[in-house]
Amino acid sequence: MPGAGPGTQTRPNLKIQEGCGNRCTFCVIPTTRGASRSLTAEKVMVQARGFIAAGGKELVISGINLGRWGRDLKENRSLASLVREILNETDLPRLRLSSIEPMDWTPELIALVGDFGGGRLARHAHLPLQSGSDGVLRRMHRRYRPWHYGQKVAALIDAAGPELAVGADVMAGFPGETEAEFRETYELIASLPFSYLHLFPFSPRPGTRGWEMHKLSPVPPQIVSERMSALRDLATEKSRRFRASFVGRTLPAITLHSPATLTAQGRTLALSDNYLPLELTQELPANQLVDVRVTEINAGGVLVCAMDSMTEKMAVAS
Ligand code: SF4
Repeated sequence: MPGAGPGTQTRPNLKIQEGCGNRCTFCVIPTTRGASRSLTAEKVMVQARGFIAAGGKELVISGINLGRWGRDLKENRSLASLVREILNETDLPRLRLSSIEPMDWTPELIALVGDFGGGRLARHAHLPLQSGSDGVLRRMHRRYRPWHYGQKVAALIDAAGPELAVGADVMAGFPGETEAEFRETYELIASLPFSYLHLFPFSPRPGTRGWEMHKLSPVPPQIVSERMSALRDLATEKSRRFRASFVGRTLPAITLHSPATLTAQGRTLALSDNYLPLELTQELPANQLVDVRVTEINAGGVLVCAMDSMTEKMAVAS
């Protein structure tokens, strides 16, 4: 598994888990990558300490099925215990968790988002949804029902507040998806406080049960494309509403490597702890943790920000 160092990447990804023991009917990973395997806690801590020593500020931990981290180790560890160990035993300024399956958001992990969110833990939870229809989820062999998903999101918002970025992967056109099933997905998404969605049309993978299902009951491409378009509009509107709610407010962020066109205008790209793309009206090096004040939302939906005065002083003094 690769190591993590800041290097040219401001937010490196430390992959701490490989493979997956689930059997989602659309997915080839269980056959191509095998069962879940975890990097030991000792190795994760060595990597995290190396990242900090090299000047890293925000570390993203990831895995194919990150929430399963530690279950295969002889100590039978949980991801929550590892996150707590990293936060308690290192000076890592900010940790971000990548995608975690809905049912792996345990009460312990959710409590950590409440304890450290907005400080050293990014207020960002990505829970793959795939479908909001009970019938489709069953055919996908997903391990949760739509109401379980809603309960996890509600618990996360309860713990971390409405500033939490909640994101999901959603698939349109799974074999046999009826109009009524699609509406269930649409309505569930409309009812939940998503800040962004990653949308995919179903794509049949040879060797999967989904491939066989697709041969028997494919959703016509035109219908898939209409459903994708409806979801895209919904996602755009939810994302815009979430972003707009931060105009006039202060957000913690990390500066990123900016394209030359932006630096030529004396501007800097940044990412807020709650996963919002930002544009700072000031030129700053990458990998700086800053507090920024959002002044407006531009036509492209990017939040334009000024440095918060307190942080600016600190940055000048350091
Ligand atoms: S979709 Fe994710 S959880 Fe399901 S089998 Fe593939 S890797 Fe595992």
